[in-house]
Amino acid sequence: MVLEGLRNAVTKFLKGGSTYKDSVEEFIKDLQRELIKSDVNIKLVKELSENIKKKALEEEPPSGISRKEWFIKIVYDELSNLFGGDTTPDVEPKKIPWIILLVGVQGSGKTTTAGKLASFYVKKGYKVGLVAADTYRPGAYEQLKMLSNLSGAMFYGDQNNNKAEEISINGVEYFKNKNADIIIIDTAGRHGYGNEKSLLDEMRNISNKVKPDEVILVLDSSIGQKAFDLAKQFHETTPIGSIIVTKLDGTAKGGGVLSAIAATGARVKFIGTGEKIDELELFNPSKFVSRLLGLGDLDALLEKIKSVQDNINIEKLQEDLAKGKITMRTLYAQLKSLRKMGPFSKILQMLPTSSLPVQIKNEQLKIGEEKVDKWLHIIESMTYEELDNPDIIDRKRMRRIAIGSGTSIEDVKDLIVYYKNLKAIMKRIKRDRGILKKLGMQN
Ligand code: GDP
Repeated sequence: MVLEGLRNAVTKFLKGGSTYKDSVEEFIKDLQRELIKSDVNIKLVKELSENIKKKALEEEPPSGISRKEWFIKIVYDELSNLFGGDTTPDVEPKKIPWIILLVGVQGSGKTTTAGKLASFYVKKGYKVGLVAADTYRPGAYEQLKMLSNLSGAMFYGDQNNNKAEEISINGVEYFKNKNADIIIIDTAGRHGYGNEKSLLDEMRNISNKVKPDEVILVLDSSIGQKAFDLAKQFHETTPIGSIIVTKLDGTAKGGGVLSAIAATGARVKFIGTGEKIDELELFNPSKFVSRLLGLGDLDALLEKIKSVQDNINIEKLQEDLAKGKITMRTLYAQLKSLRKMGPFSKILQMLPTSSLPVQIKNEQLKIGEEKVDKWLHIIESMTYEELDNPDIIDRKRMRRIAIGSGTSIEDVKDLIVYYKNLKAIMKRIKRDRGILKKLGMQN
């Protein structure tokens, strides 16, 4: 796999005896060398190093996390971004049959990948059909037929026809009649690198006739940074496209190809890591990076940091609540972290106050996922005065806020009602706490 030397750099960093600043400098140099060795664009490497350095020297780690641990987290985040962020690709078909068109230059590993994809979906329980429409390479027909046997997919091909579009259309019809869930078309690939325009023209031609649900570009990782132009054009040509990078097992240029694709905004869905039919992996950049860094306990470290960060939020909320301070600002901060922390009712249960004899009706505090973004926009449209003192928001103000946030007065009202419920509950908690204190039941 690419960037082998990174692991050594991490070990050296964690075990080394130099000062924090020197260790950071040294690590960044090692990192730069490794990234450039794996063909990552120099400009990207520079940007990445500067970001890491700035954060490493300016940011304070949360309490309970050491500086060195925090630094690894910074490196992990920046590298994940370089390769496309923390996303797990969506591979489930959105309709049946789901038609996938595979394109790529000759030798990129397109036919092999068609077989791997078929096997991936067969294992998931789908009924898969493979269409042999690579009419240029003589061996492609037999190769795909063999791969369909191996994967348990159905096969369609027509050796007497040399028109890729016709075979594709017939293949789709054939498999529709066989009730296939997923149809994968291995198209012609006579083009070489440097001839991207004709590859994309042909993809457009076949796409217009076959109307695939997804177009996948297969790219050989050894092309490194050169992937940028092709991925960019591909990304711009087809809105339903994704990319599979092959042969990541056999090249030092993996970093180059993956970062070049990420820089175009296109997504890598799978990576090929060997010649065998099951050597295809879903590509999650963050997971990939944690493997590159070679830290067995990276997951544990990330969990630790996350829980510390959650606690910080809880502490802040607790502080606000203790003061009985609930404003739109408090609500906004909590809405922002809602996805990470769960609903308000759950947060309240995590607070010591929840042991008080207060009945919190969960229903009152439940917020639908879809409301969160809307509410954030609404709060963003409020004035400072309204944020600090939401009680002044009358109907006239509601109308202005609704227009400003692109929502309706009903939506704004919804949020205000929610806020008032929350405030009433806070008041009760405060009152009950006061009573308990008086009775000497709580200190
Ligand atoms: P096509 O012309 O694009 O259809 O290319 P093929 O599917 O015939 O693949 C070309 C060569 O690359 C074959 O020898 C494959 O075994 C090999 N290949 C494909 N994917 C991978 C991969 O992920 N790793 C390795 N090591 N070899 C691969």
